[in-house]
Amino acid sequence: MSEIKVFKFGGASIKDANSIVNVASIVKKYAPSLTLIVVSALGKTTNALEKLVDAYFNSPENYTPLLKEIKQNHDNIIKGLFPSNHPIFSALDKEWADLEKIPSPSKTDNFDQIYDKIVSKGEMASSLILSNYLNQVDLHCHWTDAREIIKTDSIFREGSIQWNKTQENIQRKILPLFETLPLIITQGFIGSDNNKNTVTLGREGSDFSAAIFSFCMDAIEMIIWKDVPGVLSADPRLFENCVKLDNLSYLEAVEMTYYGATVIHPKTIKPLQNKNIPLRVKSFLDPEGEGTLISSRPDLQYPPIVVVEKNQAQLSISPKDFSFIVEHHLAYLFQLFAEHRLFVNMMRNTAVSFSVIVTNIPDRIQNVVKVLEKDFSIYIEENLELITIRHYHPSIVEELKNGKIILLEESIPKTIQMAVKDIPQLKRKPN
Ligand code: ASP
Repeated sequence: MSEIKVFKFGGASIKDANSIVNVASIVKKYAPSLTLIVVSALGKTTNALEKLVDAYFNSPENYTPLLKEIKQNHDNIIKGLFPSNHPIFSALDKEWADLEKIPSPSKTDNFDQIYDKIVSKGEMASSLILSNYLNQVDLHCHWTDAREIIKTDSIFREGSIQWNKTQENIQRKILPLFETLPLIITQGFIGSDNNKNTVTLGREGSDFSAAIFSFCMDAIEMIIWKDVPGVLSADPRLFENCVKLDNLSYLEAVEMTYYGATVIHPKTIKPLQNKNIPLRVKSFLDPEGEGTLISSRPDLQYPPIVVVEKNQAQLSISPKDFSFIVEHHLAYLFQLFAEHRLFVNMMRNTAVSFSVIVTNIPDRIQNVVKVLEKDFSIYIEENLELITIRHYHPSIVEELKNGKIILLEESIPKTIQMAVKDIPQLKRKPN
């Protein structure tokens, strides 16, 4: 098999009819090289589908109007791309019909399983639209259902990959498709378990899907097409003067995404690094631009890189009998965090208390607290941010501490991390 590339197009790159036309022009530039394209849902569809899940469980009267709105958005886009008798109209109707038929909630419903069933429709719809459009403009492609390829366990919303089965499916069902056409379109974010239930891989998981395909096909390159020129030194929505990083080592990219940089899904880099597959992050608005190359190149000189992860909470835990926090407490606490899938981002222990900064998922925190409160006093502080600065310089650390209360701070070579909260602003009244 000759050299295969993997492209991932996110929601922003396919948010309306014009942007889908733009994606086709990018694909054309690379034709006829063998390319597997992984797509996310159109624009903000996943958020809209999450609202639909909420309506299903909590306000059933909103379910039908919300579904209608989602269908309407897709209809508006396809009307701008296809003649009115095109089969895409009925293909999408078939997808939405599954959501219309969904029975009313019952006590036995598993929230996460229903979530995956509903939310995955975004990627099903977008991949059908893009593949039909590419075929229409003579970029002939196969459409494939990723659920028949990517196999996971049954942890809904956070599926873990069954690598051997996935690899085998890719060898058996994907690679032969390239013998007839150079292009294959599939969905990011979704897979299925051994019972054929749809399982999603976590929000923004399409990057990871593309990395799974790249790994299993020994791709020569993966490109993530974004609305930014590449990987920047900080989030441009939060900071001015961000600079584009031309080159990043896999290690640096793993660190950045682990600490919460949302530009790439954190699980994406490892499979690529294991096979030394270069990853480019490029702008779909400037396809000629160089973007950022993530590869095995040794660390270069980096500017300070800042990652801000919002929605954090601190749990301060101390034994009620005032005993010291010792190994068996820590083993017990971590066992509990793992069982309830609490993500620990930072920690500190003193003689009689243990503090962790976790991603604030309130129902999971409450489940942990319920178990702990018999033997431990627990204090929860919410609305925190976790700021990580790689390659820091004292001046930038001072700047970022400005106006913040520091709850926890830690520095290791190259990295400083702090959990912070805004200082409440008192304003003097005029005399
Ligand atoms: N559509 C999903 C999300 O918005 C997956 C992805 O875009 O990567 O999270």
